[in-house]
Amino acid sequence: MNDTEARDFIRKIIYEDLASGKHDEIVTRFPPEPNGYLHIGHVMAICLDFGVAAETGGRTYLRLDDTNPGKESPEFVQAIKDDVHWLGFDWEDRLTHASDYFDRLYESAITLIEKGVAYVDSLTAEEIRDYRGTLTEPGKNSPHRDRSVEENLDLFRRMYEGEFADGEHVLRAKIDMASPNMNMRDPAIYRIRHIPHQNAGDKWCIYPMYDYAHGLSDAYEGITHSLCTLEFEDHRPLYDWFLDQLTPEHRPRQIEFSRLNLAYTITSKRKLKALVDEGVVAGWDDPRMPTISGMRRRGYPPEALREFVRRAGVTKKDKVIEMGALETCVRDVLGDKAERRMAVLRPLKVVLTNYPDDQVEYMEAMNHPGNPDFGTRDLPFSKELWIEQDDFLEEAPRKFFRLKPGGEVRLRFGYIIRCDEVVKDDAGNVIELRCSYDPETRSGTGTSDRKVKGTIHWVSRPHAVDAEVRLYDRLFNEANPSAAEDVHSVLNPVSLEIVEAKLEPSLADVDEAVQFERLGYFCPDFRDDAADARVFNRIVTLRDSWAKLEKQALGN
Ligand code: ATP
Ligand code: MG
Repeated sequence: MNDTEARDFIRKIIYEDLASGKHDEIVTRFPPEPNGYLHIGHVMAICLDFGVAAETGGRTYLRLDDTNPGKESPEFVQAIKDDVHWLGFDWEDRLTHASDYFDRLYESAITLIEKGVAYVDSLTAEEIRDYRGTLTEPGKNSPHRDRSVEENLDLFRRMYEGEFADGEHVLRAKIDMASPNMNMRDPAIYRIRHIPHQNAGDKWCIYPMYDYAHGLSDAYEGITHSLCTLEFEDHRPLYDWFLDQLTPEHRPRQIEFSRLNLAYTITSKRKLKALVDEGVVAGWDDPRMPTISGMRRRGYPPEALREFVRRAGVTKKDKVIEMGALETCVRDVLGDKAERRMAVLRPLKVVLTNYPDDQVEYMEAMNHPGNPDFGTRDLPFSKELWIEQDDFLEEAPRKFFRLKPGGEVRLRFGYIIRCDEVVKDDAGNVIELRCSYDPETRSGTGTSDRKVKGTIHWVSRPHAVDAEVRLYDRLFNEANPSAAEDVHSVLNPVSLEIVEAKLEPSLADVDEAVQFERLGYFCPDFRDDAADARVFNRIVTLRDSWAKLEKQALGN
């Protein structure tokens, strides 16, 4: 075991169970229901389930909890598998489904009936709800509660054989209609649904309920610790009840931890699905989505997500974490590993009037200011350049150290230039700057030791690569969008801005995340086939101003 020892209450329990000899191997499962794509909340569960097992030399199952046909699909199953792998975890040969156990679950239901602790109820769904009582009032026994074992067996078999319509009967556990825990008031075990199953095909028209299937699936797989979120705390007595009744060979233990909630976002598959179905976003993997596939497409590195949930920790306290905490992890990872590149997002043309017409120079540029191992590349420099529109101000305040009429600025890895003339269109927009460069000031090799305060980035115009760059902001304006009655009312209307950018030539075929100097981290979109130009997503903005970094690194 490593430095993760007992860093949370669940690990504490698990390590004690190993130390005491209660278990000699830890077996966990991650049990998503394939009714949507996985989101940032699931990252926490995945890292915990796979993490504790890996740390202790144990095993983890990826179990698709598919007891609810109709909402589940092979598309979701595939996405779940891809996402778990991408996050860096491997179930090896332990991919299972609750539906793999449908036969055993059916047999066990018969055992419950034979023991006299399950019965077929024929009340309508509405009647069952009425009979259940409320939090303050006990429920009432169903008139069918005392059916004989023979009658129950006969009815349950006929449910299985498809003799009845949906809702005509249910199989219920016979526990206690007066229990203060509503989950114990004779919960349903099986219901009739004449609907095919994404994995089991059309073999079944009765399906087990989650609470029943889950604990037994855990038992069948030899799960030692069944880790789930706090909303299942009240279900634990039922989880244990099924195990008590059926005494399987392995007895798993359910332990609950608090959900991970992220501010300004939604972590409910149902609500995320609505955004997809209504076209509010471009799909489950829209880079604004808090889904794993959205974050992957956005360019978040998997190690940043793992680090994020490590920092969030596993607790029993409800918590909402700031989006900034996630972005910090993304920056921390990319800051070390992303190469630096030059790109201009909102281009303004600069002509160097005293630069030879056909001359091209190649400027050596560092790929990473903090790490010489990343090497250098040669940037073409020529008479016509692109700079960022907001690096020029016509009416500039005194402290504006970028370009202004008559002012000077250094072009990173290039020369000091002076703005001599501002060209405008008929509407008065600035469309071109006519500048002169000082040949004595070339970065690194210049003979002049002249210094100017500001340094800006640029791209050579004839060499530039066109690209569409997508700038993302948070999807919601409200810190807790789930609380809104209508999520549409809390959508950020400008969560996506598209700009036509100019990139340095080496970006034509980059295929991983890079830093556009001074602008943020970006990565090519892997769904850009349909677009005319390359498409880049902004992963995250830079925290620090580039000026500081460049000072340390360049000294000019
Ligand atoms: P949703 O409400 O988004 O549908 P869910 O809990 O129904 O979520 P499941 O597919 O059943 O989704 O979840 C699989 C596992 O992930 C469960 O063990 C669940 O407890 C865990 N999980 C789901 N959401 C979160 C979250 N926000 N934080 C931590 N764990 C979560
Ligand atoms: Mg669920």
